[in-house]
Amino acid sequence: MSDSVIVLDTLAQTRIAPSENSLKSLVTVADTTFVRLADYSNDFEYDLRYATENNFLKAKVYDCAECYTRVKTAKALIKANKDFIKQGYKIKFFDCYRPNSVQYKMWEIVPNPQYVANPVKGSIHNKGGAADITLVTIGGDELDMGTDFDFFGRKAYHDNMDLPQEILHNRKVLKETMEKHGFWSVRTEWWHYNLSSASNDRIADFKWECN
Ligand SMILES: [Zn+2]
Repeated sequence: MSDSVIVLDTLAQTRIAPSENSLKSLVTVADTTFVRLADYSNDFEYDLRYATENNFLKAKVYDCAECYTRVKTAKALIKANKDFIKQGYKIKFFDCYRPNSVQYKMWEIVPNPQYVANPVKGSIHNKGGAADITLVTIGGDELDMGTDFDFFGRKAYHDNMDLPQEILHNRKVLKETMEKHGFWSVRTEWWHYNLSSASNDRIADFKWECN
């Protein structure tokens, strides 16, 4: 989508402008540092739902739409995305690193561990090691994954095979490629991926800048 195209406000909020300068390198950055993915790759798409009211909370819990992860997660995501691009797809993010204080905010709205991780225990999102994603074509069209992001129910489960072939195929491409690059899936959410080496990282409350 070119910058001259007029988009709806909700979409505009979730778009991330490409880095103004040339892309940065992750080579010398410590693995535990939080980085803004858009500074390191122009090949991702973003629809950061928690920066809008278009999510299951029906509340905007981020001040602005940004996608940060820890360096090791960013490296793995960039590699996975290169692999997807070879297959004709790209990663689109719904959520990335989530500050622990935002986890508390979400818990206040929906205090149910079935839907929101208890902020005291924290989620891998709070550690900078998780991402909620789907796939889009190189042209930006979303692949059909059977449900929307944050649909809670059997239809979103990986082990629900009662779905059209196309959807099962799309989920398989996503899962197999992510697993190849060090990510784990969770059974009940087709969109959620954890970097396997992130489980023991600390919960963080680093907050990104909003301009
Ligand atoms: Zn998630």
